[in-house]
Amino acid sequence: MVLRHTNMRRKVYDVLIVGAGPVGLYTASILAKEGLEVLAIDRKEKIGHDVVCTGVVGTELFESMSLPKDSILNEIRTVRFLSPSCRSILYHSGSPIAYVIDREKFDIILLNSALKNGAKVILNSEVKTVEVKKKHVEVKIEDRSSKESVRYCALTVILATGVETKFARLIGMGYPRHFVMGVHATAELRNDGSVSIITGSIVSKGGFGWLVPESGNKIRVGLMTEEDASQNFSALSNRLLRGASPNAKLRPIAQDLVSNTFSDRVISIGECAGQVKTTTGGGIYYGLIASKVATETLLKAFKKGDMSAKVLASYEKGWKAKIGGEIRKGLLVRKIWSSLPDEQIEDLFEVVERDGFAEYLSNHLRFDWHVSTIWNFIRRKEIRDLIEKVVRASGILL
Ligand SMILES: Cc1cc2nc3c(=O)[nH]c(=O)nc-3n(C[C@H](O)[C@H](O)[C@H](O)COP(=O)(O)OP(=O)(O)OC[C@H]3O[C@@H](n4cnc5c(N)ncnc54)[C@H](O)[C@@H]3O)c2cc1C
Repeated sequence: MVLRHTNMRRKVYDVLIVGAGPVGLYTASILAKEGLEVLAIDRKEKIGHDVVCTGVVGTELFESMSLPKDSILNEIRTVRFLSPSCRSILYHSGSPIAYVIDREKFDIILLNSALKNGAKVILNSEVKTVEVKKKHVEVKIEDRSSKESVRYCALTVILATGVETKFARLIGMGYPRHFVMGVHATAELRNDGSVSIITGSIVSKGGFGWLVPESGNKIRVGLMTEEDASQNFSALSNRLLRGASPNAKLRPIAQDLVSNTFSDRVISIGECAGQVKTTTGGGIYYGLIASKVATETLLKAFKKGDMSAKVLASYEKGWKAKIGGEIRKGLLVRKIWSSLPDEQIEDLFEVVERDGFAEYLSNHLRFDWHVSTIWNFIRRKEIRDLIEKVVRASGILL
């Protein structure tokens, strides 16, 4: 049961989580299970509501996070990469590569798990201020229906606010400074069950577009771009949806390797800590990986009775050891990618097709871990020559 303010305002919580997206809720669930008093607060009226996300996650997420699979709508086994001139390369796997999930259901499952483990969750409440005091953190909230202002105290605060970085900034912590724009929509379209990845400057500079099958006759369509997202999206619709203009929602996607994701009594996790795959913009799995590290760090801090930055610093060391390399090298891969003109993307497709690299990619590419495969791929002479030409011309520092 999601609670109202009056039930809860007087006590001092062990952990107050600002933001009940997937990362905040997963963290709430683990910490509450470990016996901590946890309160999560979100401005949304309903969990999982109005989320801008394609909802594609690797199969690894469900295994390694031990999550129920009830939110899965579809399996992905085939991906079709389309060049700017519509040359296509097919990647197929005998077993599922990824799942298409119902994001609302996924988040509600996490909510129910958090509540079952004893966490409290308050919705429809905007956190206005987060003030770190010597012995606790004070959080001021506005109830969005009554406009009443309420104050909560906690020994520690976790910032899990997605792309919103205000509190990290005000506290003096690190936050993502670079973003691309993401677009998401759904459309009725009969499809063959494969994902299409669409490249080229009309659809997206520095990113790509995608069609993802939700079912046999419904698709999710979207893109990430460094340019005018609305214009790119109408080009994508014109090209692939026969001009149908689905209702598109836009939202930035963090693209940065963030440092100082901790301070005295506070840590940041998920997208507001830049824990997002910089190659594709997928953030759910990396956020949950970091959440596990955060919970281990906090449990140790509580055991010691010391929530200082010195103790919480091991959180950043831990999450960077797991996903920092992917984020950092992914940024470089994207930088190279965004400097490739369409002709060179065509050349890349040609080399991949001609020299059997498609098979190499099929054997090596993992949905959540791209960088080492891409790196090995870039090292091949034909690809390296091609990319070096562009890198020299654009002055990118490798
Ligand atoms: C177009 C697009 C497609 C995407 N597709 C995928 C995909 O296929 N797979 C994938 O893994 N990722 C995808 N992502 C990224 C993914 O959606 C995010 O990485 C993920 O939602 C991050 O989770 P989070 O819990 O960190 O933040 P969020 O899900 O953004 O949750 C943050 C929560 O904090 C709340 N909040 C913020 N500020 C306050 C405040 N002051 N007071 C109270 N509450 C507050 C918000 O209401 C929100 O509920 C996509 C993103 C975009 C834009």
